[in-house]
Amino acid sequence: MNNNTYIGIIGAGQMGVGIAALCAFSGFQVKLIDVFPEALLKAKNNIRVQLEKFLDALLRSHSIENILSRISYDTELAALDNVNIVIEAIPEDIHLKQQLYHSLNSVVPSNAIIATNTSSFSIAELAGFVSEPERFIGIHFMNPVLKMELVEVIPTQDTSSAIFNESKKFIERLQKHVVVSKDSAGFVVNRLIVPMINEAFAIMESGIASKEDIDIALEKGASLPMGPLKLADFIGLDTCVSILHNLDKAFPNRGYTPNYLLKTYVNQGFLGRKTKKGVYSY
Ligand code: NAD
Repeated sequence: MNNNTYIGIIGAGQMGVGIAALCAFSGFQVKLIDVFPEALLKAKNNIRVQLEKFLDALLRSHSIENILSRISYDTELAALDNVNIVIEAIPEDIHLKQQLYHSLNSVVPSNAIIATNTSSFSIAELAGFVSEPERFIGIHFMNPVLKMELVEVIPTQDTSSAIFNESKKFIERLQKHVVVSKDSAGFVVNRLIVPMINEAFAIMESGIASKEDIDIALEKGASLPMGPLKLADFIGLDTCVSILHNLDKAFPNRGYTPNYLLKTYVNQGFLGRKTKKGVYSY
């Protein structure tokens, strides 16, 4: 793994942008793919904004143009014909992902790692959509990618040990801490965090406390850097709902059914920061 290693990232949304910025910052060549040209244009701008926001000022003045020059943009999967690692970061929709993996099989070199950034789907189920499940693995980045220090790695029973070890090396090269999780709904982080978010919506819905006070309660009372409702806006309320559905399916009757108010926000298109409105306005 060196500066000639190519990383393909599919989906230039919230996560794809952060992963692309991080990989380019770490010296890798990046190919960012999205079906929508306008998403790629927006991503180009967002990558610069994120780098400017998170990089130390001194480093920034020296290398930001260099970092950006390592990223290319494309709407066609064919551009991934020479990548070493592919990271899928398209929306949390099983049919979309299935379709994408079927098309990927014939494009990506046979020795490349295929990774998913899914928050909630079974990695083994997604692995079933690629022709060689032994090279498939979950690599779950946290949002905002440049800032958060953790990445979860989720091998399946079929993931080869070579792919598992290479994936861990890749993440260490990105200077992130690795936590290995079994392929279980929510992995570790979301299994703990998303039910808390669901409960925060239930507290808000029943009028027990205002949204601001719910967030302050956990920021000041439990030393969380960000309250659960602000965090929900960060993650995306639609993503929270789909994680809850998957947790509920995997562990029924544990109170993981998505809260009514949370679902109402999603139905109205208020998905959090990415739509400029969620629990809060941005
Ligand atoms: P998003 O909706 O912000 O972005 C998804 C992007 O994928 C969009 O730009 C869309 O145009 C593009 N896209 C859709 N179909 C495509 C296709 N077939 N080929 C190429 N591009 C396509 O989504 P996001 O929040 O970045 O989430 C992406 C993935 O990362 C999801 O699986 C989600 O569960 C996971 N995830 C999200 C977070 C979070 O905090 N948002 C954290 C960790 C993991």
